[in-house]
Amino acid sequence: DERMILQFQITLYGDDERLLMARDITRLHRLEEMRRDFVANVSHELRTPLTVLAGYLETYADQAELLPPRLGRGLASMQEQTTRMQNLVQDLLLLSRLEIDRGGADHVPLDMAALLESVRRDAEALSGGRHVITVELKEPRALTGSEQEVRSALSNLAFNAVRYTPEGSHVTLSWRPGPDHGACLEVIDDGEGIDPVHIPRLTERFYRVDKGRSAATGGTGLGLAIVKHVLLRHDARLEIDSLPHQGATFRCVFPATRLATGTHAG
Ligand code: ADP
Repeated sequence: DERMILQFQITLYGDDERLLMARDITRLHRLEEMRRDFVANVSHELRTPLTVLAGYLETYADQAELLPPRLGRGLASMQEQTTRMQNLVQDLLLLSRLEIDRGGADHVPLDMAALLESVRRDAEALSGGRHVITVELKEPRALTGSEQEVRSALSNLAFNAVRYTPEGSHVTLSWRPGPDHGACLEVIDDGEGIDPVHIPRLTERFYRVDKGRSAATGGTGLGLAIVKHVLLRHDARLEIDSLPHQGATFRCVFPATRLATGTHAG
């Protein structure tokens, strides 16, 4: 691939002066591509060994009573850590696939009622009934996109709303009209909220407000980075509104060009 990549920047000075700068970023771009491919390959290669490991651990767990107690004690922890690695590898792979595929996402009309309800059920299972989770549908048009990608973005937001809020909190999954004839997919909670200083960095990979607590919640630290990339591929943006102790709203703002003209199925 012999393409050269140039970055231009125009700066305005006063009324009639312009400064044009061109930068050759070909090498930087190649390095970035190599980094992405490397992460994708490593994640892919780690999947099989982890599956084998998890398989054997499960067999041992099924026959735990046959193991000497000293060995049995570590088993649950080994299973837990293996699951964590599997989730991490799965999220890394998903993220690098989203980054590598430069085109936009599909334009398939999605059944929003079914999608929100199905994510609600998954979030409820994660919560174990300790949260009140509801769906709100105020936008009749369907989002056109990739079902798999939008589902993973919405699940990440809904799971976070369960993981980072105390028992008894309310979580709402909402699909409603948005600015400029677009629409918003929102996940709203009334939990502890987030200090505004952290908000601009939340979508960075592995950025966490509270490292210790997040590791215990089972997150991979990649959730919001995945959300951001899914939205980029759907011409949408993520807005985060939150104040400490006042809950958090994660709002995905889709343009009108991402909405089906008819009303959505379901
Ligand atoms: P992970 O959840 O795996 O740590 P994410 O990228 O999904 O990674 O989230 C980044 C951080 O944002 C979390 O560690 C948490 O501190 C914070 N966060 C996300 N959602 C919420 C929420 N609904 N309420 C409070 N904090 C949140």
